[in-house]
Amino acid sequence: MSLLPRTTSVKPGEKFDVIIVGLGPAAYGAALYSARYMLKTLVIGETPGGQLTEAGIVDDYLGLIEIQASDMIKVFNKHIEKYEVPVLLDIVEKIENRGDEFVVKTKRKGEFKADSVILGIGVKRRKLGVPGEQEFAGRGISYCSVCDAPLFKNRVVAVIGGGDSALEGAEILSSYSTKVYLIHRRDTFKAQPIYVETVKKKPNVEFVLNSVVKEIKGDKVVKQVVVENLKTGEIKELNVNGVFIEIGFDPPTDFAKSNGIETDTNGYIKVDEWMRTSVPGVFAAGDCTSAWLGFRQVITAVAQGAVAATSAYRYVTEKKGKK
Ligand code: NAP
Repeated sequence: MSLLPRTTSVKPGEKFDVIIVGLGPAAYGAALYSARYMLKTLVIGETPGGQLTEAGIVDDYLGLIEIQASDMIKVFNKHIEKYEVPVLLDIVEKIENRGDEFVVKTKRKGEFKADSVILGIGVKRRKLGVPGEQEFAGRGISYCSVCDAPLFKNRVVAVIGGGDSALEGAEILSSYSTKVYLIHRRDTFKAQPIYVETVKKKPNVEFVLNSVVKEIKGDKVVKQVVVENLKTGEIKELNVNGVFIEIGFDPPTDFAKSNGIETDTNGYIKVDEWMRTSVPGVFAAGDCTSAWLGFRQVITAVAQGAVAATSAYRYVTEKKGKK
């Protein structure tokens, strides 16, 4: 089984019933269901697995017990390959709504046409915006604990954030690093309680709560993180070799707006319970959407992909029936 889905040669200008934009769990879910509805489907995306490429062991997807994320991507590939869904590794730059069809413009391969579009385009990592962050990016600062933890074996690190990513990151880092500071701006956590309880039991993790990072300092590489306690105003410098910024993600607001698709007040693509966006014929699924009160998991993304494909199927069938 491969980490790359079997790609297909498609001709620019070719028309599809549905074009799925993205290659994360939402896109895989949409691809499977579109294929099963026998829609002429094309998937266009850049990174097979999307954010799953940055995950370690996944144990909250029913039926796949303690699976490595990379193995999960391989299983997803195998499943859509069974249905011979064409996949194009490319970047979608623009979706033009021509009224009777959509023209999906890619960076490398040209344009493709479709009666409907499903967006499973995910989110982008959020930056802290403090002095030193840009300067030390890749020189001690990382945005992916799961990917970079082994590089910090026997080192001292800080993880910033209080969500699932930060707590999962702190847990992974605790088995490589000698000491892990978990710096969070509150004293309660957004993360699932099971992660918080697991990390609390790690003897080499120190919680630095009600605290924010003011600056990341160093010379050639990171040396200190400057932290302010929001309750006491105390400023501390912690000596660290690495800083893992795990403070969440930003939605693809600009992409949505530039294609005439409405977003919610937080910038996520607005969808209804059938994953319909504000543009008839365009559907969205997964982390990029406002769906399900922002409950963003692999299992929900895949499910939303399936719902979006069902809506696309109904839309395309109705459209064809009118011709
Ligand atoms: P998240 O849930 O949005 O949490 C972000 C955390 O960073 C919050 O604790 C937030 O603090 C903090 N934060 C945000 N901006 C900050 C800033 N400027 N300065 C300091 N702290 C800041 O993001 P996430 O943890 O990356 O998770 C993203 C999504 O992926 C979530 O839906 C999550 O459930 C999912 N995920 C799931 C798993 C899993 O195992 N199932 C693993 C990883 C991620 P506040 O709490 O004060 O807002």
